[in-house]
Amino acid sequence: MKYHSLLFDWSGTLVDDLPPTLYATNAVLADYGLPAMSREEFRERFRLPYPDFYEEVLPGVAIAELEGTFRRAFRQSPVGVTLLPHAREILEWCRAEGVRCFVLSSMDEGIFMEQAQAFGLLTYFEKVYAGVIDKRERIGELLKVHQLKVPMTAFLGDMAHDVATAKHGGIDSLALSTGYDPLERLVKTEPTQIFAHLGEVCEYFQRSERVAL
Ligand SMILES: [Mg+2]
Repeated sequence: MKYHSLLFDWSGTLVDDLPPTLYATNAVLADYGLPAMSREEFRERFRLPYPDFYEEVLPGVAIAELEGTFRRAFRQSPVGVTLLPHAREILEWCRAEGVRCFVLSSMDEGIFMEQAQAFGLLTYFEKVYAGVIDKRERIGELLKVHQLKVPMTAFLGDMAHDVATAKHGGIDSLALSTGYDPLERLVKTEPTQIFAHLGEVCEYFQRSERVAL
């Protein structure tokens, strides 16, 4: 295993929260008299940093103004958040191998903590960075504070912004197509590796050459 430390995105990487996110987004749009988006339209238009997305669909509306509706609707969504297949397996494997794990997510910190605790995943992470609007602005500090070795660190995420963040920090980018961004968009960002799902990532880690920690 080449990597001594891994940064994980959360939404679309370890958990599938697209149904409640879409439900909550549509509740926000309804507040402003806009029609609901289909899952396809949402995946086509949504991007990080998410204020850019809201500026496009609701120009001039402050994020703070719509967050209340978003959080409330997210919790009321008829379809909840599910753990993606192999999520626990990959974290278990990292723990057994001594790979240091971190979370770098844009998700609201309160919602993140509820989910991570409900799934029993919180203890796998050395440190969580949630509620990060622009991950590129935090990656350098994160690597420095925890003294992570750049050549032996990767960021695993499901969006173009995650790949851009990894590149910004000079670390490897592992892109997953189980989440928000369509595969074609991820391909265009030229990540270090692209995987169809976490099971493939597990296999890749297990068969990759072992480098002494
Ligand atoms: Mg994500």
